[in-house]
Amino acid sequence: MDWSSTPSITPGLLKRTEVLAALRAEVGDDSSGRPSDALIAALRTAGILRLPIPAEYGGLDANWRDASVMITALARADASVGIIVFLHYAAISRIIAYGSAEQRKRFLTAVARDGRIFASSWSEPGSDAAKQKISTSAIRLAEGGWELNGAKTFTTGAGVADLYLVLTRTGEEDEAQGSYGRSNQGIFVVDSTRPGFVVEGILDLSGMRRSATGLIRLSGYTAEARDMLTHSHATPDAIGYPHTLGLTLGSVALGVAEDALEIAVEMGRRRMLLDNPLYRHHIFELGSQLAAIRGVVQSAAEAEGDRTGPALTAKVFGSETAEMICRTAQGLAGSAAFSRHHALNRLAQDARALTLMGPPNYLCRELVASRVAER
Ligand SMILES: Cc1cc2nc3c(=O)[nH]c(=O)nc-3n(C[C@H](O)[C@H](O)[C@H](O)COP(=O)(O)OP(=O)(O)OC[C@H]3O[C@@H](n4cnc5c(N)ncnc54)[C@H](O)[C@@H]3O)c2cc1C
Repeated sequence: MDWSSTPSITPGLLKRTEVLAALRAEVGDDSSGRPSDALIAALRTAGILRLPIPAEYGGLDANWRDASVMITALARADASVGIIVFLHYAAISRIIAYGSAEQRKRFLTAVARDGRIFASSWSEPGSDAAKQKISTSAIRLAEGGWELNGAKTFTTGAGVADLYLVLTRTGEEDEAQGSYGRSNQGIFVVDSTRPGFVVEGILDLSGMRRSATGLIRLSGYTAEARDMLTHSHATPDAIGYPHTLGLTLGSVALGVAEDALEIAVEMGRRRMLLDNPLYRHHIFELGSQLAAIRGVVQSAAEAEGDRTGPALTAKVFGSETAEMICRTAQGLAGSAAFSRHHALNRLAQDARALTLMGPPNYLCRELVASRVAER
């Protein structure tokens, strides 16, 4: 049986670079809370980071559907790296859509030529998931530019990424917009090599344990005026922008579910249970759930116009169905999968992490339902 995703330019790229083999070799090692330096170097040189960047900046000019297939392929080997690359692509989409000509050239070239990695720092201790209560401040300086101060939590890729999209309070007119972000906020591109930027540590999470999800702090960080990506009403729009393209964490959930089903099939083969009708029927059910995830993820990538509704739906359905697939596969494995380091336990926790992040599922439901109500 082939559970893999639809072919595109992505598998070819991965095959050439052998990144998947490197990922599979180290996926069980979460001791440092992040991928190895060698793996990060492979991502930088392989072309994966520049996949969706337009050719004029040195990218591979792939569309967002191909980017989504790449995320699934990576997530199938290591969901933690899947979310790092997902957030990197999401940031790139915002630079393309909201950046000035100078910013597009500066930042997209930095990724395509120098292999820079992007992360996004919205969340803060005490801020809610809808980002209505952001404390990190951006104060305009008399001599030009801005001073940034504040602490961010749950930044995926902390210490791995080079450039961070940081959400701040700018003190402009204050309105809630939709259910996500406010108009008194701005997004800055923060360079981790500049003074005032510190990674304060990696969180000891129970899922996505190699995603370098951690804390960053800005203390008197000086951003130039040209480092501001958005302000005012553009900020809430920019936060949600990747969804309009069909980018969805459902593509990570798909990779997790593919991996879990493959393990269930392999376990059945090893224990000679694939001849058992009961086991086979469980496998069928898992396969049909997986096909449903693939369907919603693909339809998000192919929907006409604004893909926000399909993308958020794919995220909720994909993450929760991946959780169910992992749970059933754990049941099929019996006591063997109760060992703490069994791959199915990692996958189940990775699927759960997807329900909690970017935006959490309860908020996705709210965002989709409020759009339906507005129609
Ligand atoms: C693995 C992982 C990676 C992440 N990576 C990033 C990242 O790179 N960058 C970043 O900025 N953030 C990141 N996050 C943060 C994430 O996106 C959330 O925004 C953040 O965790 C806050 O969510 P919360 O559910 O705790 O927030 P809250 O809004 O405080 O919600 C807490 C709980 O209250 C309940 N609740 C609150 N409001 C409602 C409501 N209206 N309806 C129903 N229930 C409600 C829900 O049960 C909810 O789970 C990551 C999180 C995880 C787990």
